[in-house]
Amino acid sequence: MRKIDDLSFEELQEVILKLKEPKFKADQIFNWIHNKMVDSFDEMTNVSKKTRTELQKEYEFTVARIELKLQSKLDETKKYVIKFEDGNIVESVFLKYKFGNTACISSQVGCKMGCHFCASTKNGFIRDLTAGEMLKQIYLIQKDTKEKISNVVIMGSGEPLENFDNIVRFLNIINHEQGQNISMRKITLSTSGIIPNIYKLADINIPITLAISLHAPSQDKREKIMPIARKHKLKDLLDACDYYVRVTGRRLTFEYILIKGFNDSQEDAVKLSNLLKNKLANVNLIPCNYVKEANIQPSDNLDIEKFKRILTENGINATVRRELGSDINAACGQLRNDLLKM
Ligand code: SAH
Repeated sequence: MRKIDDLSFEELQEVILKLKEPKFKADQIFNWIHNKMVDSFDEMTNVSKKTRTELQKEYEFTVARIELKLQSKLDETKKYVIKFEDGNIVESVFLKYKFGNTACISSQVGCKMGCHFCASTKNGFIRDLTAGEMLKQIYLIQKDTKEKISNVVIMGSGEPLENFDNIVRFLNIINHEQGQNISMRKITLSTSGIIPNIYKLADINIPITLAISLHAPSQDKREKIMPIARKHKLKDLLDACDYYVRVTGRRLTFEYILIKGFNDSQEDAVKLSNLLKNKLANVNLIPCNYVKEANIQPSDNLDIEKFKRILTENGINATVRRELGSDINAACGQLRNDLLKM
């Protein structure tokens, strides 16, 4: 059976027209699902019993529930383990920033990328998430916190650009004015650099913020920690980034995790500055999270500051990611890994 919450607004309109219902019913039903966030047809009180029964014959709702929730004692951060109908689990996070409430969501169960420092990939890849399952993470967080989410970051487990069609479907639904109406500009998609799909994303011109997981200032260093770098070369990745900026006019973010003794030297900072000179971009420096399975340590604060200063002196916009919920801030994917072992 198809999932009703997986349909785009236009697809829902088609379904409604086929049932010989007036077109505005699609607005109402879309609003029930994606704004009021109901979990059943019976809750749609302004939709006739007849229409609801017809819909129920062919459609059902995506099933997801909160399996576990960790609440930070230091700030408003909450970390969720969300379980889907088939028993698979992913992590999602609620973060309260000055600029707005942010949901960090997963795009796949597990991940194929194999980045050495990342916990999400340590148990391999299981499957893509559907658009409905990505939406559900945001709806569950909103219902649990009773807070409106204004910003979304696709930075949980998975490589979103390897789940391209579902991501685009998700973006169009979350952005729709009858739904959550979250502006594309308030959505950030983080990718390890799947080059053909960066071009594809630029060409469909969805003006989200693209964040590139760069993490190293040279091809050989990047290959050492990100196997995907062997297939998608740094030089070609930067060309794709230039194309994205040219077509969308959007500023890019380069994420750079600082791993003690590996990519945090002054020489690395100079190399990175040269690489990104004259680009419309921000560098987000992220002290790496400790990952049990990876044997990496975050850089010292002094080295982080020095690294940032070199970038700034070279005209590169750089910020150090503020840490929220540091008491529950196990690296993304770690919580799931721990649960899988139980
Ligand atoms: N696959 C996508 C999105 C998921 S990862 C990507 O690679 O961008 C989201 C971000 O978390 C990426 O920048 C990733 O490199 C980073 N990350 C992974 N493991 C980390 C760790 N141990 N410490 C800090 N950041 C980490």
